[in-house]
Amino acid sequence: MRFSKQREAVYNVLCQTTSHPDVAWIYARTREIIPNISIATVYRNLQELLSIGKIKKLSAEGYAERYDANVSDHAHLVCSCCGKIVDIDMSQVDVKHSIAGVDRYEITFYGCCDECRNNKDASQNKQ
Ligand SMILES: [Zn+2]
Ligand SMILES: [Zn+2]
Repeated sequence: MRFSKQREAVYNVLCQTTSHPDVAWIYARTREIIPNISIATVYRNLQELLSIGKIKKLSAEGYAERYDANVSDHAHLVCSCCGKIVDIDMSQVDVKHSIAGVDRYEITFYGCCDECRNNKDASQNKQ
């Protein structure tokens, strides 16, 4: 297991954030732990983690591939105001789980996150 230490570092970096970062972000953080790691190595380790189901990859419209260490069932909201991708608890979402043959699904909402909505409300109240 020559790469297990690198893989662990990449995985730990991803576990410490809920911001659904892209490869460049993960690379920057992993370099703080393993300074001589290359972005190709980070990418390869992400693919390995994906293939063993330790992480998830998100594909959001107009974004580079983003990664998520949270592999539990949850949906995402892509904020069109600040660009953040936030987790949405599936208990808030009404999904039919009874479709035959479905073993995984991906749900992405596009809109405005709580923070941006609150900021908007706050600025409207001032007027
Ligand atoms: Zn936002
Ligand atoms: Zn997520």
